[in-house]
Amino acid sequence: MLNLILFGPPGAGKGTQAQHIIEKYGLVQLSTGDMLRSQIAAKTELGLKAQQIMANGDLVSDEIVVGMIKSIVHNDKQAKGYIFDGFPRTVKQAQALDSLLAEIGEGISQLILLDVNDDELKARLLNRGKDSGRADDQDVSIIENRIKVFKDQTIPVMEHYAKFNKSAKIEGVGSLDEIFERIISVIDKL
Ligand code: AMP
Repeated sequence: MLNLILFGPPGAGKGTQAQHIIEKYGLVQLSTGDMLRSQIAAKTELGLKAQQIMANGDLVSDEIVVGMIKSIVHNDKQAKGYIFDGFPRTVKQAQALDSLLAEIGEGISQLILLDVNDDELKARLLNRGKDSGRADDQDVSIIENRIKVFKDQTIPVMEHYAKFNKSAKIEGVGSLDEIFERIISVIDKL
């Protein structure tokens, strides 16, 4: 299996690039943000729990997101591999993911960081907020909190995989195609 973590701060372009990667490599995309938004739309108990936390730009509990990922990884035995988008966001989540994959005799092949500076991130998110309908993309202080949460709680995930020589960083600014080429060159070396 080819199991990738597409990593980066909010607004780095993970979702957009994930779409292209799944087309080229036939992987299954797992976006915890998308899964949580579906739960909110369906007004489930889990969605109601997550809603306010997401609106503030904080992280929902490790148990909730790990549980969502677990149910898919355990039930989708046909997948050629996964692309994790927006997950793991804490070292605890990374450890849980490693154990989950080990249970099926697999592991993470590579984490790829899309590196984008803060000013560019803020501009991209505010722009996306104009038509995404996402409240967390429309308020500068919420955006700044999300970037801070990334630095404080999520960057250590990259260090976790660097210990196993599995972290790569690419420049996340440029045209969509240029960035995609950079990602391909990392994947094709695996
Ligand atoms: P995203 O769509 O990845 O930007 O995620 C939107 C929001 O969902 C985040 O700001 C968090 O509140 C929540 N979220 C998504 N993925 C996770 C995760 N792996 N761990 C905790 N919270 C998450």
